[in-house]
Amino acid sequence: MTERDYRAAFRTAVEQVRQEGRYRVFADLKRHCGAFPHATWTCDAGVEREVVVWCSNDYLGQGQNPIVLAAMQDAIATYGSGSGGTRNISGTNHLHVELEHELADLHGKDAALLFTSGYVSNEATLSSLYKILPGLIIFSDALNHASMIAGIRHGGGERRIFRHNDLEHLESLLKAAPADAPKLIAFESVYSMDGDISDLAGTVALAKRYGALTYLDEVHAVGMYGPRGAGVAARDGVMDQIDIVEGTLGKAFGVMGGYIAAASELVDAIRLYASGFIFTTSLPPALTAGALASVRWLKQHDEMRIRHQERAATLKRRFKEAGLPVMESSSHIVPVLVGDPVHCKLISDLLLADHGVYVQPINYPTVPRGTERLRFTPTPFHDDRMMDDLVRAMNGLWTRCNVKRMGGVAA
Ligand SMILES: *Cc1c(COP(=O)(O)O)cnc(C)c1O
Repeated sequence: MTERDYRAAFRTAVEQVRQEGRYRVFADLKRHCGAFPHATWTCDAGVEREVVVWCSNDYLGQGQNPIVLAAMQDAIATYGSGSGGTRNISGTNHLHVELEHELADLHGKDAALLFTSGYVSNEATLSSLYKILPGLIIFSDALNHASMIAGIRHGGGERRIFRHNDLEHLESLLKAAPADAPKLIAFESVYSMDGDISDLAGTVALAKRYGALTYLDEVHAVGMYGPRGAGVAARDGVMDQIDIVEGTLGKAFGVMGGYIAAASELVDAIRLYASGFIFTTSLPPALTAGALASVRWLKQHDEMRIRHQERAATLKRRFKEAGLPVMESSSHIVPVLVGDPVHCKLISDLLLADHGVYVQPINYPTVPRGTERLRFTPTPFHDDRMMDDLVRAMNGLWTRCNVKRMGGVAA
């Protein structure tokens, strides 16, 4: 192929995405430290505009907590910028050791292991489990995150997909598998696109009955649910029955990085087998120190979790009162159904350009066709006035675009 042919192939690939309405334009933002959730948005023409961010995964505003920022600045002054290596070759900073102890304590486990992101922790751990447990069958929820799917596929072993949070289907698959085969059930606590919470007690009961390990992604729960922010498993009193819990330091903890926590033998094996842990530069001291400060601080600040839940409940109620079709959600996530990709994108564009409201449209393939939605993540810092502005803007656009309201009636 000539250079022209190669370039044409890339253009065709992009064109295909564009034709499916899936071409992505990133909102160019400057978040303002000390003024969360305000930001400046730079639009295509280079014009700047003040906006309120309504779709951040910095769920508790920890990315701007002065305690976290001070710890990060102090770590740079004390240890410099990078870690200087992989964990095995000169890159283990004392802060990594402290943070792993802190996370093990958070989840009531023997040990924890840090990764450079939540994605890497899922991919690296799940793929290496097949090497540690020959013949392993992984039972994976159909709506699991791309990073879990990548790990399971990369591992190359047996897998069974069960319908989302459908324990009868899961049980039928467990029953059909050889009784003596090693098994693992991989699932999440909070599913972030619908905002539903899975049946943890029911799942761990099945795991016990069929001799399976449990692997729980608590990425959208750590810092936010349960005593000390240990997650939904801690809230539901089943933490001791989850064998491997996985979390991120990049969402409610407001920094970056990922981890697993488990019994010491499990963590030690993953440490020695997981390529994505071994062959990469470890987290820099500043991120590690920031995450450490954030985890410690949130352990002691239940009032943030209470306010967070109150804000989410208030936004759901206010949308409902305005007749806007809030989707059923048992978590802090507030999805509003648009049900059409063109309107979903249009409403999001108009909210941003005309109302200073930034919420990213969620379209296929992230969610099924016909369920296109706007996904709001109110934080403890979204006050009543911001909600007034948001509800007014949404109401006007629902009328203008003639989108279905609650109960399926178009206005
Ligand atoms: C965001 C996300 C991850 C990845 O975490 P990062 O730290 O952002 O890499 C893993 N699982 C789920 C369910 C997520 O939503």
